Amino acid sequence: MVYIPSQSPASAYTQPFAFSTDIASQPFPSQEILHIPFNQPLISQREMEYVSEAVSKGNLTGDGAFTQRCQAWLTTKIGCSNALITHSCTAALEMAAILADIQPGDEVIMPSYTFVSTANAFVLRGAVPVFVDIRPDTLNLDETQVEAAITGKTKAIAPIDYAGVSCEMDTLKAIADEHNLMIIEDAAQAIMSRYKGKPVGSLGHMAALSFHQTKNIISGEGGALLINDPVLMERAEIIREKGTNRSKFFRGEVDKYTWVDLGSSYLPSDLISALLLAQLEQAECIQQRRHEIWQYYHEAFADLEAYQQVQRPTIPENCQHNAHIYYLLMQDLETRTDLLAYLKSRGVQSTFHYVPLHSSPAGRKYGRTSGSLKVTDDLSDRLLRLPLGGGMDLREAEYVISGVRTFLA
Ligand SMILES: *Cc1c(COP(=O)(O)O)cnc(C)c1O
Repeated sequence: MVYIPSQSPASAYTQPFAFSTDIASQPFPSQEILHIPFNQPLISQREMEYVSEAVSKGNLTGDGAFTQRCQAWLTTKIGCSNALITHSCTAALEMAAILADIQPGDEVIMPSYTFVSTANAFVLRGAVPVFVDIRPDTLNLDETQVEAAITGKTKAIAPIDYAGVSCEMDTLKAIADEHNLMIIEDAAQAIMSRYKGKPVGSLGHMAALSFHQTKNIISGEGGALLINDPVLMERAEIIREKGTNRSKFFRGEVDKYTWVDLGSSYLPSDLISALLLAQLEQAECIQQRRHEIWQYYHEAFADLEAYQQVQRPTIPENCQHNAHIYYLLMQDLETRTDLLAYLKSRGVQSTFHYVPLHSSPAGRKYGRTSGSLKVTDDLSDRLLRLPLGGGMDLREAEYVISGVRTFLA
């Protein structure tokens, strides 16, 4: 974790890089080994100040002042009708599955190339995840194959925004409207991304964000459920508060609180929200740093793509990404395995990503596939993620680039 001491504000630390081909062309002394973690978050003095303020105010339960401020920030910036802070994106997805009234035997269409929580949230309600292939360019749910997966039991579509690049939301919404389905967007990776100029998270019925340590904006563990259909809000509050109407009680709308619905404890301590608020308030500066590193990688690998040694990420024209992941698609599994090992030997923590859910033990047990998943099978073998974080600097990015180039030379 890169910690900014109090005398240098985050904004001073995050001066734009001087992108200089001079720097890029300087070879690293071959004997020098740097240690580059996969993910280096950027934490400022403000996080410490807010956390100590939360402690000294003495209220560490959920839904305190910091949680309210985080929710206001998200509602304003994303333009969703409501935002509820949760203890994880997993929790937000579980809430969404309850809110969507998913019943045993219902089906939910999703990509296989995603994190387990996208599927688990629905399987916990007895539903069947139906895995559909991904697009070769964005690795997001292939919207052209969704209609073929719809049956009389389909209740919802759960797309994700891989690497913070939005799924093809207009097409998915048109399909959902026609078949009366809900869109529950797993936007865990996509805070501050945009689709056709609109913030990701504002377009489906519900969306879930993650503030896990590995994401762009962090609180260690954390998440949010974004709601765009105001009708869902009353029940959402209840589900999040263990199935009680405690939120209404705190607002003085009822004179005692009681068990009224299904629910669990999905809200975090205000201590977590204190840390999160500081991160949200510095989101622009964190994002700026991430974009600079993403772009630096992207330009550095252009010639390798021209020689067909690697394939770089594709960002569709109508999407503004958030620099969540920088990945390369290698020629085959063997090359990826060897490059991972080579980078590791040079102190660089790079990594592959998901084992496709349709080929996992639980995915085979609880889900089914629709159509061929050949793009998923192929790309999941070849994808390699490079270190990226708000706390990373240009010299570290350059070291990673030189590792990849040396290996491929
Ligand atoms: C990170 C991630 C999650 C899980 O987020 P948590 O906050 O750890 O629960 C879910 N889905 C996707 C696509 C993710 O990237």
